[in-house]
Amino acid sequence: MAQHNSAVEQDLDVVIVGAGFAGLTAARELTRRGLAVRLVEARDRIGGRTWLDHRLGRDLEIGGTWVHWTQPYIWAELKRYGIGTVASPEPQRAFWWADGGRREGDPGALLDVIGRHNGEFTKESRTYFPEPFRPLATDAFKGIDQISVQDRIREQFPAGDARDILESFWTLNFNGPLEDAALTQALRWVALTNGDWAVNFEACATYKIQGGTAALAEAILEDSRAAVDYGLTVAGMTDDGGSVTLRSADGRTISARAAIVTVPLPVLGTIDFQPPLPPVKTEAAKRGQVSSGVKVWIRLRGEHAPFVALGKADWPLNFFQVEYTLDGDTIVVGFGPDATRIDASDAAAVQEQLARLVPGVDVLDVATHDWVADPLAGETWPMHRTGFLGNHLAAMQSGHGNVLFAGSDIANGWGGFIDGAIESGMEAAQAAASLLGPRSAARPAAREPVPQNPALR
Ligand SMILES: Cc1cc2nc3c(=O)[nH]c(=O)nc-3n(C[C@H](O)[C@H](O)[C@H](O)COP(=O)(O)OP(=O)(O)OC[C@H]3O[C@@H](n4cnc5c(N)ncnc54)[C@H](O)[C@@H]3O)c2cc1C
Repeated sequence: MAQHNSAVEQDLDVVIVGAGFAGLTAARELTRRGLAVRLVEARDRIGGRTWLDHRLGRDLEIGGTWVHWTQPYIWAELKRYGIGTVASPEPQRAFWWADGGRREGDPGALLDVIGRHNGEFTKESRTYFPEPFRPLATDAFKGIDQISVQDRIREQFPAGDARDILESFWTLNFNGPLEDAALTQALRWVALTNGDWAVNFEACATYKIQGGTAALAEAILEDSRAAVDYGLTVAGMTDDGGSVTLRSADGRTISARAAIVTVPLPVLGTIDFQPPLPPVKTEAAKRGQVSSGVKVWIRLRGEHAPFVALGKADWPLNFFQVEYTLDGDTIVVGFGPDATRIDASDAAAVQEQLARLVPGVDVLDVATHDWVADPLAGETWPMHRTGFLGNHLAAMQSGHGNVLFAGSDIANGWGGFIDGAIESGMEAAQAAASLLGPRSAARPAAREPVPQNPALR
């Protein structure tokens, strides 16, 4: 692992904390501008909350997975590097819970049940977010900023099936409980697909990256030529007005003219910033996001026709979808809203949940990662709490002296997605370049020419 004790001799322009998609994108954008950049990463791999790992007999996405043509930043990256997408199998059967019992039908019937009520629930999305890629463009959202998804559903729909289905569907989307889930976040999501909730749902679980998220992460890193210091956990950062010095947990230091911090929101509070962050930032980090759930991969004995299954909002696992067949078995992905309510590495516990909805399943093995307990993540895909949009988003996006911030927690558009991470990395790189503008422009000869990307020839 590379170790660097003096940045002065390296003449670093920008040090970037975190080699997830936000950090990787920022690094590439800055090196393309001729700036000297270093990434520091606590893990021994790039990708952050995306992680393609070999489990249950094949490569599986343990974190972020699905991408979509409505997501401009990730789609452009895939085209840039000539990477395609692979569709998840079209479900042939659906299982859901209604009227206190299990229902089975064709997937269109389940979509109809969800759609009848969800269309009503989200119909004002463009009123509140006329420009979904600039969520703060108008004040329209302010009147609903303190309203939770749960309160709005319960106000709009009497107790019964409509309410149960909507609560389960949005619990799935938030990967957490709805009591404090921001209505603005739900409506903003749907505004990003022009108010069409079904396209939005398609965006969440239909197209995967060929070769996995790792293929894209590696392509961006290779293109950037930025060096990465692995195994370096940043414990503190001091900005003396002229440069920023990072301190690692094991006593290493790195200085650069500016820093970009891309750590997940709950992790921000573990870093000692000098001068200290303003209260608005520390308060947001302390509140964190709603996303405290689980994603689990399940190997089932035998081949099952592709199914989709939606249970109740308060079940430890409330959604399942078939993804692959493998050597005569079936691989299913499942989600639940609270990582503390199920040990998703326990095959028997997972079997119990899946069998509530899908008859005749025999769970052979499971694979998961507890992102919520992971000290470098603290959450799954970021989903805002009430009030975050109006009170915190702009403050979290703004720089702190020579320290800038990025990451999918604070993206403008598809915040919570890989797309948002990439967008925020681009924006932070632009901000860093303009912060360093006159100084970096004075030193272009020190840089190697950027080689042409072979994928573009
Ligand atoms: C289970 C799960 C499912 C998801 N599904 C999807 C999906 O289907 N589609 C989609 O688009 N998105 C999905 N997401 C969300 C998506 O993966 C993330 O929003 C995105 O990858 C975040 O990128 P980032 O760069 O902002 O943050 P991260 O990927 O979290 O990167 C931050 C990096 O900082 C590092 N770090 C943290 N603390 C320190 C420190 N002190 N010092 C040094 N390094 C540090 C971390 O190790 C990490 O590598 C999912 C996420 C999860 C967890």
